[in-house]
Amino acid sequence: MRRSCTAFFVLAVSILLAGLSASAQQAAQTAGAPIVLHAARLLDVAAGRVVMPGELLIEGEHITAAGASVAHPAGARVIDLGDSTLMPGLIDAHVHLFLHPSAEDLQTVEESVPQRTILATLAARDDLMAGFTAERDMGTEGAGSADTAVRNAINQGLIPGPRLRISGNAIDILGGHEDANHYNPAQHVLSNADRANNIDEIVSVIREQVKDGSDFVKMYETGHDSITNGIFSTPYQYTEAELKAAVDEAARTGRVVAVHATGEPGVRYAAEAGVASMDHAFDLSPETMRIMREKHIPAVPTFAIMEYFADHAATPEAAKRERAMLDYHAESFKKQMAAGISFAVGSDVGPFPHGTQARELVLMHQYGMSTADVLRADLINGAKLLGWEGTIGELKAGYFADVIAVPGNPLDDIGVTQHVTFVMKGGVIYKR
Ligand SMILES: [Zn+2]
Repeated sequence: MRRSCTAFFVLAVSILLAGLSASAQQAAQTAGAPIVLHAARLLDVAAGRVVMPGELLIEGEHITAAGASVAHPAGARVIDLGDSTLMPGLIDAHVHLFLHPSAEDLQTVEESVPQRTILATLAARDDLMAGFTAERDMGTEGAGSADTAVRNAINQGLIPGPRLRISGNAIDILGGHEDANHYNPAQHVLSNADRANNIDEIVSVIREQVKDGSDFVKMYETGHDSITNGIFSTPYQYTEAELKAAVDEAARTGRVVAVHATGEPGVRYAAEAGVASMDHAFDLSPETMRIMREKHIPAVPTFAIMEYFADHAATPEAAKRERAMLDYHAESFKKQMAAGISFAVGSDVGPFPHGTQARELVLMHQYGMSTADVLRADLINGAKLLGWEGTIGELKAGYFADVIAVPGNPLDDIGVTQHVTFVMKGGVIYKR
């Protein structure tokens, strides 16, 4: 037991070293000296404008000054990033570190939890190197609370990765969205989620997950989506009372509940129950959007995964189905923007390659949101949703030094977020 743990950590440290350039390792070792970052521009997310030029003073883990120019203390290391824009590290509010692209989608059945945990450490590194310095992991899909090991190893500096909020397994009903519904029952294939069928079971599962180290609760409220003659439908999984019980039990220990919820009536039950976010949100009635506005519940659209599925479908028929669902989601997103609900940015990365998910920001802009609003949704609303409001998501004195650089101005071309050239998290440089 002990030996395998040691082997794992040796591997983990090797991954860390492989992932860092020599200069980054040096930077990590000299993190004590103040750092001044200089670039042609600095993004003021809240105001939706860039400051020219841009400078940040970083001392230890934090930003201590930000603006067009900052004091350069004696002994500070000055890093000139040239014609790029300094901006806060990106936030992905919907990821699956324990999933990777797989044609057969049998990874949760075929791969052991230790194997999946090793792959999750690589996914965390890839996301960080792409500029994502904070993420919300929306379920290990059958790897139980193994995500606590990944989060803790990142927090201890053993492996590179984003700041993480994790849920452990998601919660699902018998025969629900993530249950193993299509296998020979005699094989007893397990669900990809923790099963709970009533309030007592929900409370019990949440208590187990909290004990195991989860930061929040993820529940599947809908599943088995379809579009027939232009009408979207999806069966709900939990009643409003069951979701309310989950929200209350999570709140008892200072936690929140996020739901996979694609359409009515599940989305309305979730809104009434007071969930923290409505993930996917393909179809929201005016009444559901009214409740979401009133309770400040953001929608987290997930376009990038749908585009990937449409582009990588096994058959033309499947591609057509996926594309129809994406088109429906995009039209619905326009109605949601018009109705004035708020948004965070979540890509559902995992089933498509980690490190490529800035595509989500591009798609949100393509479907009608201004670049300034996409960046505010990602950074300001994302920080709030992850419970890090006032500490990440903006470049301000007192905030964590989670900083990236992009080549160009993201307000003019949001696509530059797909080409991050510099990554710092908590004052440590990971990519340059
Ligand atoms: Zn997901």
